[in-house]
Amino acid sequence: MKKVQRVLTGLMLVFTLHAAAQTSTDAKMKTFIDALMKKMTLDEKIGQLNLPGSGDIVTGQASNSDIGKKIKEGKVGGLFNIKSVEKIRAVQKVAVEESRLKIPMIFGMDVIHGYETVFPIPLGLSCTWDMNAIERSARVAATEASADGINWTFSPMVDVARDPRWGRIAEGNGEDAYLGGEIAKAMVKGYQGNDLTKNNTILSCVKHYAMYGAAEAGRDYNTTDMSRVRMFNEYLPPYKAAIDAGAGSIMASFNEVDGIPATANKFLMTDVLRKMWGFKGFVVTDYTGINEMIDHGLGDLQTVSAKALNAGIDMDMVGEGFLTTLKKSLAEGKVTLQQIDAACRTILEAKYKLGLFDDPYKYCDANRAKTEVFTDANRKEARAIAAQSFVLLKNAGSILPLQKNGTIALVGPLADNKENMPGTWSVAANFSKATSVLTGLKEVVGDKAKILYAKGANLDYDKAFVERAGMFGKDLKWDNRPAAEIIQEAVNIANQADVVVAAVGESAEMSGECSSRSDIQIPEAQKDLIKALLKTGKPVVLVLFTGRPLALKWENDNVPAILNVWFGGSEAGYAIADVLFGDVNPSGKLTTTFPQNVGQVPIYYNHKNTGRPLQDGKWFSKFRSNYLDVSNDPVYPFGYGLGYSGFSYSDVKLSNTSLKGNQTLTASITVTNTGKYDGKETVQLYLRDVVGISMTRPVKELKGFQKIELKAGESKTVNFSITTNDLKFYNPDLKYDWEPGEFQVMIGGNSRDVKTATVNWVK
Ligand code: BGC
Repeated sequence: MKKVQRVLTGLMLVFTLHAAAQTSTDAKMKTFIDALMKKMTLDEKIGQLNLPGSGDIVTGQASNSDIGKKIKEGKVGGLFNIKSVEKIRAVQKVAVEESRLKIPMIFGMDVIHGYETVFPIPLGLSCTWDMNAIERSARVAATEASADGINWTFSPMVDVARDPRWGRIAEGNGEDAYLGGEIAKAMVKGYQGNDLTKNNTILSCVKHYAMYGAAEAGRDYNTTDMSRVRMFNEYLPPYKAAIDAGAGSIMASFNEVDGIPATANKFLMTDVLRKMWGFKGFVVTDYTGINEMIDHGLGDLQTVSAKALNAGIDMDMVGEGFLTTLKKSLAEGKVTLQQIDAACRTILEAKYKLGLFDDPYKYCDANRAKTEVFTDANRKEARAIAAQSFVLLKNAGSILPLQKNGTIALVGPLADNKENMPGTWSVAANFSKATSVLTGLKEVVGDKAKILYAKGANLDYDKAFVERAGMFGKDLKWDNRPAAEIIQEAVNIANQADVVVAAVGESAEMSGECSSRSDIQIPEAQKDLIKALLKTGKPVVLVLFTGRPLALKWENDNVPAILNVWFGGSEAGYAIADVLFGDVNPSGKLTTTFPQNVGQVPIYYNHKNTGRPLQDGKWFSKFRSNYLDVSNDPVYPFGYGLGYSGFSYSDVKLSNTSLKGNQTLTASITVTNTGKYDGKETVQLYLRDVVGISMTRPVKELKGFQKIELKAGESKTVNFSITTNDLKFYNPDLKYDWEPGEFQVMIGGNSRDVKTATVNWVK
């Protein structure tokens, strides 16, 4: 007991000292910024709120460029998407040597899934269910970006998305708010570390606040409208988790919420973010988010700029609405000086926390840029993490792993292309350094097996579509030959091979911003290729590239093996080979539901039961909630993914079946690796609040998961501790609490196949 007391007293001392140190840092910061702001003119304060794009900077002429002129006049708070230490140093020099108050600028970039060493697209990364790996990927990204002059990243993107038509589903963590929150925390920690003043940590910017992923019809930038209970229970938690983890900034989304664009939405920006969640960082708009409110139909630039400031926006990205109208609005009483001061203060505080007032060139070390970017160690990490992100969707007859011998026919429009490997939003990537599937396979297999290659198909039959889907230097060269001839070439090599690997699916820019699709199947041109390959009678393995859940009903019914590789980053070519040949046993699990067809969308695992649920095992019953033409089932449910081994689950054991108040419940399950490969399995815990008191509750909700490693034949018991915190939800009065009654505890390897036990929990 004494020992415990001593430990507790020690801990309290540490907390007190930490709190005291924090207070003294905050006090120092306040004194510094108070003094600085006293010297600032109104124009200089408004200037801090301005975030132009990088513009026309040519090294050596930074001072004379258009942007240079503005910087000298104190009209720029920061710049974004400017790459290289030399350029950043040059413009920072203008700010700290040629502007009146010498205030350093902040430098942002979309470092979304890696910098030059590119990791899987976020949706793929989320399928690792490995929070350490995700944090490490963000750590590597921050190290590389900061070595190249960047100190602020527009990441993590935590928009919950249940609509695969929406292209930006690729940039987030899938459909679940709890998992999204865990990933948000890991990312913020990876970027910001424990000490933001270090030269290898960078400020994170959680985005896009809020509910951007719920755009109607999956069309980008479209309207969002939902009830408050849905908002608070199903969409807001990941943003809050990022804020709680200390994210220093947040980006407003493009969409409207409740009829008010997020950029002017006081409820979101002030009532929830500042008042409910206690956010202390700064809020930046998305790209021209203020100006776009003119098209939303809310008035002219002066009006919408004032609305944005009134709502709680601090920084204006690109559009210069603040820069050009706030002074007038102040004179006309449409905004207050306190509001301008408050916004300016948050931005100066961020710069202070990054240590830029101590050393504006802190992130401009040319030597680091040479030695810390795209290193062997970083690439190795990216390769290992990419392999973990792949999801084995089907493996009939254990076609996979492949033998490293014989002849392999590699076909498909994505088989011999580097540029598409990094995936969407990889602005810092050097495409020429990425590895294609063809190269990866050849290098990993060496001279042990023969690899034949043919393109087999264009991405799509429509050339104009292929051009739209190949933007930003990711062109998938159009093959002018007739489709039949391109297919025949592939069939010829398939006939000479023992196995066919078809690298098919989407190109990198078929998902991402403004890449919504109304048809979420593999394009017809490639389906025709797959059909021709199947006809050869050779075993066919799909290596499926995609930035979204696709409708794969036909493929699942007809193709024996499907490995979903998303866009795995610069090292994906190697990682794909590692998994295909069994050097790595795949362990990714889906974080979004894969529907049978687009008509089932939105389809997600944590839905409500309705008053007329379809009975289990049925596909249609009159006057039940279902479709005439398709069953309610997805092709692959949330949490699903195979490995080269199987895992069996025992029944769920509970420490107690009736609980009271703040007791803790332990739920255990024994998992056995029944195959012949060592492997990893993500064990998932779901809860169902069977009888809601204030409102209806979902059929299940993810509340925990553990990724474990099991040797072939090994068993392990996994324990989950469940407390009343796991039972809480926002009720119709937006009160966050739990309600007593019966709960189902479900554990399994995906959201569909679970073992269930029941408890009664009273207050
Ligand atoms: C995107 C953001 C991004 C910003 C800056 C916008 O178009 O919506 O996600 O951070 O551009 O590049």
